[in-house]
Amino acid sequence: MIPFLDLKKINTPYEVGFQEKLKAVLDNGWYILGEEVQAFESNFARYCGAKYCIGVGNGFDALTLILKGYIQLGKLQKGDEVLVPANTYIASILAIVEADLIPIMVEPRWETYNINSDLIEEKISSKTKVILAVHLYGQLAEMDLINAIGDKHNLLVIEDAAQSHGAVSNQKSKVKNQKSSAAYSFYPGKNLGALGDGGAVVTNDLELAKMVSSLRNYGSETKYYNDYAGVNSRLDELQAAFLNVKLPHLDTENEERRTVARRYLSEVKNDKIILPKWDLTHNHVFHLFVIRTENRTELQKYLHENGIQTVIHYPVPPHKQKALSEYNTLSFPITEKIHETVLSLPISPVLTREEVAFIIAILNKY
Ligand SMILES: *Cc1c(COP(=O)(O)O)cnc(C)c1O
Repeated sequence: MIPFLDLKKINTPYEVGFQEKLKAVLDNGWYILGEEVQAFESNFARYCGAKYCIGVGNGFDALTLILKGYIQLGKLQKGDEVLVPANTYIASILAIVEADLIPIMVEPRWETYNINSDLIEEKISSKTKVILAVHLYGQLAEMDLINAIGDKHNLLVIEDAAQSHGAVSNQKSKVKNQKSSAAYSFYPGKNLGALGDGGAVVTNDLELAKMVSSLRNYGSETKYYNDYAGVNSRLDELQAAFLNVKLPHLDTENEERRTVARRYLSEVKNDKIILPKWDLTHNHVFHLFVIRTENRTELQKYLHENGIQTVIHYPVPPHKQKALSEYNTLSFPITEKIHETVLSLPISPVLTREEVAFIIAILNKY
């Protein structure tokens, strides 16, 4: 069976490095917010071309701490509206709810599955204060257009970059919105994955950086003096150490994912399968390679019988989830159709050329 994602194989080349880091942390005897977290924060900020990075507990907390940070800074108020793609992983929306803000969902484009910026302005009300863009499946949302709308209507623009580590538009800085902030996740399956949970806020906004840095640690800058009602959401010292081992290889790994994607795109030839659209630039890091097909159950079963494991990202859209029952009556036909038809093929830096050829041959025979 070709597994959907072989995490053990992805991490095997780093094992010696991980063991050295474990020993270094043990020798050091400092386990929370130590040298490794500090080093990772400065390494990842530099990697993203941004001024500040604050390591936090996970990607969800990175999103909520940005939103709560802006509330604490007086730039947002509870009850303000946040425009967000209807077609996203539910974490983007739950983070908005967690910060006592109101998600207003916007349909995606068929071509990219990302938020359709042509549909944003009609959703703006006097309560709208934020656009939360999501770079779904690893492909950047149309940030130039989104930032222009943000500027025009005086909105904050935040990026959910949990699936897009290292994606760049026009070789520019990896943070597309210099005025605002991006949330990253280092969940093991992400392009830059830890051996447990982890996340980061990346920003050029010094005020926000200071606020998030305080909020993640009980709202305290000086131990036992608490300025804000913060939380405990610190990036773990060991996870930061492991991420420091992997970060230098992220661009290479992303290129390996793109190599697989280029082959799928040029060699899969089957009318029953809709391939993703990509302009072949570095604006996509292929966290996932998502195809669409009318009879997904049948295709998934066929692939399984041929030894190929696939996953659905995602089977139920956020507005149809029980957890968001107050939104269940809303209708987002494009989002719903995408959720009904998507299927993710194996893609990773460790998928072999033979495996890719096999998957393509099986797909073409379907
Ligand atoms: C993974 C993910 C998150 C949440 O990250 P966690 O570290 O699992 O909390 C948020 N948004 C998107 C789009 C994600 O894929």
